[in-house]
Amino acid sequence: MTTQELLAASAKYLANTYARFPIVLERGQGVRLWDSDGKEYLDFVGGIAVDALGHCHPRMVEAIRTQAERLIHVSNLYHIEPQIRLAQLLCEHSFADRAFFCNSGAEANEAAIKLARKHAKDHWSTDRFEIIVMRHSFHGRTLATVTATGNEKYWHGFEPLMPGFKHVPYNDLKAVERAMDSRTCAILVEPVQGEGGVNVPGDEYLPGLRRLCDQAGVLLILDEVQSGIGRTGKLFAYQHWGVTPDIMTLAKALAGGIPMGAMLAKESVAASFVPGSHASTFGGTPFVSAVAHAVLSTIIQEDLPGHAARVGKYLLDRLVALQEKHRVVTTVRGRGLILGMEVSVPARTIVSGCMERGLLVLTAGDNVVRFVPPLIVTETDVDRAVRIVEEVLNGLPH
Ligand SMILES: *Cc1c(COP(=O)(O)O)cnc(C)c1O
Repeated sequence: MTTQELLAASAKYLANTYARFPIVLERGQGVRLWDSDGKEYLDFVGGIAVDALGHCHPRMVEAIRTQAERLIHVSNLYHIEPQIRLAQLLCEHSFADRAFFCNSGAEANEAAIKLARKHAKDHWSTDRFEIIVMRHSFHGRTLATVTATGNEKYWHGFEPLMPGFKHVPYNDLKAVERAMDSRTCAILVEPVQGEGGVNVPGDEYLPGLRRLCDQAGVLLILDEVQSGIGRTGKLFAYQHWGVTPDIMTLAKALAGGIPMGAMLAKESVAASFVPGSHASTFGGTPFVSAVAHAVLSTIIQEDLPGHAARVGKYLLDRLVALQEKHRVVTTVRGRGLILGMEVSVPARTIVSGCMERGLLVLTAGDNVVRFVPPLIVTETDVDRAVRIVEEVLNGLPH
């Protein structure tokens, strides 16, 4: 099919859930992508913080090939070696003692919400089920996670929503303290908000939440679906603040682009899940687990979190320099390779301008241009990307 035919068929046959850009991406290598007309792009979207090793990384391709020839799917009725090895690797490199595998970020958060409710029932009482969540958060699109999400635009029209969530402003300890009562079973929070505009909290925030949780016997759940797996310059974002959660959720970059989610928990909390409590047909198949193990061990062995911290700082400095020259750029923020550039025009116009010039970036809300490139991105790639962003800024009407 020609590009025009593909775009027409897309408009005709696909559910209309995305305002897609009018290109068809066909092939990738590292941080580069090519569309159906052969045009090349520098990819600073990385499948929205998913393609941590870039496109078609040799170790990932090898793991896919090898495991596809050995075993793709059985069932969690049986033990699965790649899944066991992945759980061990995740636990050895985090606060966690146990892992539950599923297929997406929303599902990982569903598991976390269910575990927190079950844990409260086991240890406290049946009316302790409320979870405090933050404004501008994003936790997924299932009914429970969309309710947890702190932005009306994601749940408008789908009411009645799930009971048991209380929204408070992000980065506001006092608001959390006021919202907590005898019904609170957990606090669910992104250590760095992604979709909500790339928001990094103050240094007292996560330690403060931990303290409030400890005082009240409430669980701290960190949604690291976007911030985890090296993105912020540490393997997990919570490590920046020396705070450990009780439950953490992962997905996006976990298997480098093959769908996988995970919920990790401390032993005392994980103990509330027993055989029959929760399940997933596809969770942690031999195939996806082997790929995730290859991706995660590559990230750890090659210290890609350290690389993300260095290249991320380089990109941040370059964006700050742009801000000094261009009044339309109002703030630059983020950590490692999750960076946001807030602008006083619709962010989508800048995203479109960059795409025309061969750079893929995305928005985070209406006014933030988001940069979440593969963790293997280099300073040379950053130079090229920033040059393109600058061209687009120069082309805006003054
Ligand atoms: C993307 C995202 C999710 C949802 O993940 P899906 O795999 O799309 O269900 C949840 N939480 C955060 C922080 C995310 O960035």
